[in-house]
Amino acid sequence: MNQQEGILIIGGGVIGVASAYYLAGQGRPVTLIEKEDICAGSSHGNAGLIANGLAIPMAAPGVLRQGLKWLLDAESPFYIKPRLNLDLMRWLWQFRGACNEKKMRQSIAVLLSLGQASFDLFDDLLDKEKLEFGYERKGRLILFTSEAAFEKAVPDTVLLREYGVDSTLLDADGARQIEPNVQPAVTHGIYAADYGHVIPDRFVHELARVAKERGVNFKTGTAVLGFETTGRQISSLITSQGVFTPNQVVLAAGAWSPVIARHLKLRIPIQPAKGYSVTYKRPLASPRLPLSLSERKIAVTPMGDRLRFTSTLELAGYDPSINQWRLAAIRRAIHEYLPGMEELEQTAVWSGYRPATPDDLPIIGRSEAFENLILATGHGTLGMTQGLITGKLVSQIIGEERPSIDLAPLRVERFH
Ligand SMILES: Cc1cc2nc3c(=O)[nH]c(=O)nc-3n(C[C@H](O)[C@H](O)[C@H](O)COP(=O)(O)OP(=O)(O)OC[C@H]3O[C@@H](n4cnc5c(N)ncnc54)[C@H](O)[C@@H]3O)c2cc1C
Repeated sequence: MNQQEGILIIGGGVIGVASAYYLAGQGRPVTLIEKEDICAGSSHGNAGLIANGLAIPMAAPGVLRQGLKWLLDAESPFYIKPRLNLDLMRWLWQFRGACNEKKMRQSIAVLLSLGQASFDLFDDLLDKEKLEFGYERKGRLILFTSEAAFEKAVPDTVLLREYGVDSTLLDADGARQIEPNVQPAVTHGIYAADYGHVIPDRFVHELARVAKERGVNFKTGTAVLGFETTGRQISSLITSQGVFTPNQVVLAAGAWSPVIARHLKLRIPIQPAKGYSVTYKRPLASPRLPLSLSERKIAVTPMGDRLRFTSTLELAGYDPSINQWRLAAIRRAIHEYLPGMEELEQTAVWSGYRPATPDDLPIIGRSEAFENLILATGHGTLGMTQGLITGKLVSQIIGEERPSIDLAPLRVERFH
């Protein structure tokens, strides 16, 4: 097969599909290749939060000390598998470099601009298209069962207020007014208004459906195996289904992007940061809005007739196994915060890799090494949130339009 010209997108997750949607809207010829099925990766079973209010990066002052404590706890939500891996060492070194006040504040501003732009694009999308993916904007309630954890969270809330993030500190009664169905153990809450939520796989499939109607050629079961280059141009892609010779290539392969980039001798600092979700049939006692079970670092999202719990961040390489200790910790924690969860009917257990960069900002922009390569990857914990704006930015880069967000802090060269 020799597919000539047009734009070729690698990866059928939220980032690749949103890019395909906006590029097709400009009337451009687009082929998307995906090694498995559409939405088979991290975009499938995540918490579905459109989390504009979640703007403090993981790389923040003090996080290294906390991280070391968690490392020693088998049930903790954060884990680094000890191993001698040069990429991981380099990533951790760059992460350490980003853990300071100045860098954190710069990242907050960028994350908020990406989040706000995505909120606007959700409104625009739902205005223009007939799509149903469970989008709701109810905010999110963070629950605490200890005064100490609440007090620890207050400074972050105060910091985000400086940037205009809307949140309310609550006592136990205040938290119950927003979500009555919580355990007596809940002592405090923080209500964060700047959150929406979606059913993530339905969102990606719906967007793919419209993109397909606009002419995008989806080639699933097609894995990139290598590239041929001429000078600073990618001349062809070698895949499991033949050779493609596109004009432009968009690398949107999530946590696998560095593996693919290595064929081009490019180094992209992304680590697969594994997380888990457990999904149940929605019980009668289900919360009405998304929750965070703060001490246990668990996100709870009502999704239509399902209720999903997500947690953990493991830097353990590409290892899809599910750690039963951590899963058991999620199941136990549910009862600490929520009553009426005794007879939950489980429908799915899932793990996925967040494509994590050391500074928690995505990598979006044209590569300096190859003129016809656009990078759209590294969205870490916020890929669902930033999917639409990333797709829009990719279409603006290719269309040589002025990008709606400053791309300078998002360039891969910031790590070099
Ligand atoms: C537990 C958990 C909870 C999360 N919750 C949220 C949340 O609430 N809100 C939020 O904003 N984000 C959340 N995220 C993060 C979000 O899921 C990711 O940032 C996002 O899905 C990344 O999208 P992507 O398109 O870059 O990658 P993916 O969805 O992983 O897509 C990449 C695709 O590339 C394909 N691919 C890989 N290699 C090749 C190859 N060689 N050839 C062709 N195709 C290839 C893969 O099969 C895959 O389908 C969560 C993640 C996890 C794990």
